[in-house]
Amino acid sequence: MLKNFIQRQLGLIFGYSENSLRRHLEACLGRPVSLVLTDNSASMLSGRIKDGVMLVRLHRMFLDADSAVIDEIVSMLRHRKGKMTLFRSFVRDNRDRLCKKAPQKISVKTTGRYYDLRELFDEINAEYFDGAIDAIITWGSKCSRYAVKRRTLGSYSGSTNIVRINPVLDKKTVPRYFVAFVVYHEMLHASIIVSDKVSSATSGNGRRRIVHSREFKKRERLFRDYQKAIAWEKRSSA
Ligand SMILES: [Zn+2]
Repeated sequence: MLKNFIQRQLGLIFGYSENSLRRHLEACLGRPVSLVLTDNSASMLSGRIKDGVMLVRLHRMFLDADSAVIDEIVSMLRHRKGKMTLFRSFVRDNRDRLCKKAPQKISVKTTGRYYDLRELFDEINAEYFDGAIDAIITWGSKCSRYAVKRRTLGSYSGSTNIVRINPVLDKKTVPRYFVAFVVYHEMLHASIIVSDKVSSATSGNGRRRIVHSREFKKRERLFRDYQKAIAWEKRSSA
């Protein structure tokens, strides 16, 4: 944790920008480089030469790599082989970043195959919140390779103000009212300030975060298709 934090801090100071990394690769390889930074965890590094230009695709996290790791990348691109020991350990140390997009690169995708989240969000916002919710909504990413097993169908992050809906819901077999219910649930999180409540029943420091408070549950039941949605969830998880 601390190590990652320090690494990231150092990364901010000593890390590469997209341009400086490209220039560095060009200098090392002695040819023009076209660098594409990806969020693709399935392929960390690839390189091929086309019309004299080295086309490099590299995971974004390597902007924070130190020069020893970059040296391994250069050597791999140049000789098509080499020990990738530091490269691999860098990937291992940064595993937690694999599923996350860099904050400035949040990709928002609202249209799914079956459901349009923007449409659902606007409807619910007008009907239940007087249009007051200004969160961003998006389908979550299907990052299966390193994804932590999650049972959650949706999430809301207060720090980024983003509602993410699990793409498993974008199916013909999932009724629209159920997707709407999950969206409504997450929008409730956005509307209710999570209360820090001192619980006298708890030992230790006694502080407990009540995420789904009584107030939350009361408002959750105000959803038009609440009973239908709960019943469908029960049936489909049985
Ligand atoms: Zn919740």
